[in-house]
Amino acid sequence: MKYELTCINCPMGCRITADYDGKEVTNIQGYTCARGKAYAQTEITDPTRMVTALVGVEGRRAPLSVKTRSPIRKPLIFDALDVIRKTTVCAPVKIGDVVIENLLGSGVDVIATENVD
Ligand code: SF4
Repeated sequence: MKYELTCINCPMGCRITADYDGKEVTNIQGYTCARGKAYAQTEITDPTRMVTALVGVEGRRAPLSVKTRSPIRKPLIFDALDVIRKTTVCAPVKIGDVVIENLLGSGVDVIATENVD
């Protein structure tokens, strides 16, 4: 099967083409750097995404913005958002604090992206 992708790792947005036979990605073309080649392989075989969301803060109207520390597998995203939405934290929170450890057993933590006093 032929794939056409746009690399999302930098603003250049290289157009990448590749072949995939269900086991191996071959004939990867159009990338400018190694990140693009790795992106194509992952995107075709096991796509991942960073997740950003909001969680509640006890006693505060404004929510706290959070994100996954690294990308998680795409099929986990809806369940991950469900877990994140049900989470509340207590202030104070600092940027980088772990809000949810090992999200859905993915090995990826959810961390705060802002400070709350
Ligand atoms: S292949 Fe490299 S240069 Fe091209 S968009 Fe991806 S990261 Fe940027």
